[in-house]
Amino acid sequence: MQEGSSDLTSFPHRHLLGIEGLSPDQITVLLDRSEIYVDQNRQVNKKKTLLRGRTIINLFFENSTRTRTSFELAGKRLGGDVINMSVSTSSIKKGETLIDTAMTLNAMHPDVLIVRHPHSGAVKLLSEKVNCAVINAGDGSHEHPTQALLDALTIRRRRGTLQGLEVAICGDITHSRVARSNIHLLLTMGARVRLIAPATLLPTDIARLGVEVFHDMASGLENCDIVMMLRLQQERMQGGFFPSIREYFTFFGLDYTKLANAKADALIMHPGPMNRGVEIDAEVADDFGRSVIREQVEMGVAVRMACLEVLTENLGQTMLRNT
Ligand code: ASP
Repeated sequence: MQEGSSDLTSFPHRHLLGIEGLSPDQITVLLDRSEIYVDQNRQVNKKKTLLRGRTIINLFFENSTRTRTSFELAGKRLGGDVINMSVSTSSIKKGETLIDTAMTLNAMHPDVLIVRHPHSGAVKLLSEKVNCAVINAGDGSHEHPTQALLDALTIRRRRGTLQGLEVAICGDITHSRVARSNIHLLLTMGARVRLIAPATLLPTDIARLGVEVFHDMASGLENCDIVMMLRLQQERMQGGFFPSIREYFTFFGLDYTKLANAKADALIMHPGPMNRGVEIDAEVADDFGRSVIREQVEMGVAVRMACLEVLTENLGQTMLRNT
């Protein structure tokens, strides 16, 4: 599929729950808007008033450092009021259900709820009960749309396009919402996707999405443009999925020997948090010429600003239509 041209009005969704189902044009709208914020975030004065008067609630049922901070910065840089709620300090601890929490927050008239939850589908369920826009900041092993968008922005800025690139996503695919969102985005934008993982960390029917599956790094990485590493999500594993960390690193950890199979200028990516010596060698992670891991973090703030802008713009239009 072609990458499309875009304007602000062509993102017709109230929520951002996932990448699956978005068109190339809709993805391009978000990436193009993000570009403006990358520049703005590099200025001394980073603050805008676009979201003045808007209330954004960060509702995180799972731990997070970069995503929560990134959304908080994004909202504040656009002039919105941002409130952070984490489960440890909320009524969930006292037994309140997800829906009751959502309804309680909804009664306070937020404009955007940013939600992370350990269960796949929980964010969509919540979005059906509230009047505001909802952004999925990661639901179980389902989707993490802003991560895929920031990855796409990082790649597009470095390579000029996503079309025709060979992207290898390596590691714990089974438990990774990052992998799922990236697969949808990259295929929609015309990239080719290879998955490299031990059979135990790959869903059996994954090839039906249109990806190529490999069980060894050497052949999987051959001639690829982008190497995207994933964290071993041990908090989502019940039982043994691999013999030991040492064996995992030997066969699937990214080191210079394995990387030599990729193109000489292949970019190295990782969504973080990174386990050095588990899925990636420390030196490779810090390779200035090729690792774009820090750049991904920078792009994250810009992408989240774009998502907040586009969704609150839509909210304004819905409100006008309803009056
Ligand atoms: N930060 C990403 C996520 O929330 C990746 C990870 O945790 O490994 O899914």
